[in-house]
Amino acid sequence: MLEVRMTPNMGRGVFATQAIARGTELVVCQGWLAKSDSLDENWHALQVGPDLWLCSAGDNLDDCINHACAPNAGFSTGEPILHALRDIAAGEQIAWDYSTSIGEPGWTLACLCGAVECRQVIRSWWELGESERTRLGPIALTYLRVPRDTW
Ligand SMILES: [Zn+2]
Repeated sequence: MLEVRMTPNMGRGVFATQAIARGTELVVCQGWLAKSDSLDENWHALQVGPDLWLCSAGDNLDDCINHACAPNAGFSTGEPILHALRDIAAGEQIAWDYSTSIGEPGWTLACLCGAVECRQVIRSWWELGESERTRLGPIALTYLRVPRDTW
């Protein structure tokens, strides 16, 4: 259903090898859990809690999935599992909105997604506007859906 291919401008990417229906479970993010102060810069790390990261050596499918400001995949259940947000055509690149997983203040990444609504710079969840957080809440990880002062 999915395979890793090289992209022209974003390194590796994950692509649909067949049409995928909206709501389909795409990828269960894999790895080991580590706290912020034990992260290694060689790891790929997906933030899954205020001080908790799902880490890997970079060879899992989820490590190869790029960001998009108009994503076709998201954390619909709040768990680190990507679901199709709409019908996806064969050959389409799979992407999620990195702001829906990263809560680390000050984190940024230049965006190359090319969408009309591209934010140019991807920021952490708490540096999105309130209207963006409201819009993206249903596809964000559970730990970002609660008020920050309850962390
Ligand atoms: Zn973008």
